[in-house]
Amino acid sequence: MALIPVCPKCDKPMVTLEWQETEIDLCLQCRGIWFDAGELESIAGQTEEQKDWFRDLSDAPSLRVEAGVKRLCPRCNRPLISFAVKGAEDTVLTLDRCEHGHGYWFDGGELASYLKGHTVDNQNASERLKTFLREIMGE
Ligand SMILES: [Zn+2]
Ligand SMILES: [Zn+2]
Repeated sequence: MALIPVCPKCDKPMVTLEWQETEIDLCLQCRGIWFDAGELESIAGQTEEQKDWFRDLSDAPSLRVEAGVKRLCPRCNRPLISFAVKGAEDTVLTLDRCEHGHGYWFDGGELASYLKGHTVDNQNASERLKTFLREIMGE
């Protein structure tokens, strides 16, 4: 039996939603979103190009863990590791990932910003991601 995933930020249970056959976990309190490995790619439509748009999620260097700041992976309960990537208009976004490959955490609004900082050339994928944000996050 799968455990109910807990929000890394609020420590409250998240809700699991299905969007076009991909399940994602959302925290209704902070509007943060958890993607298991491969889910974001699946939302974009599993094309070859999309690997480049999401490469930063796995390849950006890890930041040092700040004392006292501890967010846990909703899958394995081990601390998430922060990393910095480019966001909208050259802002720096600090995201979190599980070093054991379980997935990625975006605080509310961070996914929209990430997508603005990482141009999606493929029209189809771009539309899918925009639709996802609108329908799921209301952004
Ligand atoms: Zn939360
Ligand atoms: Zn994990």
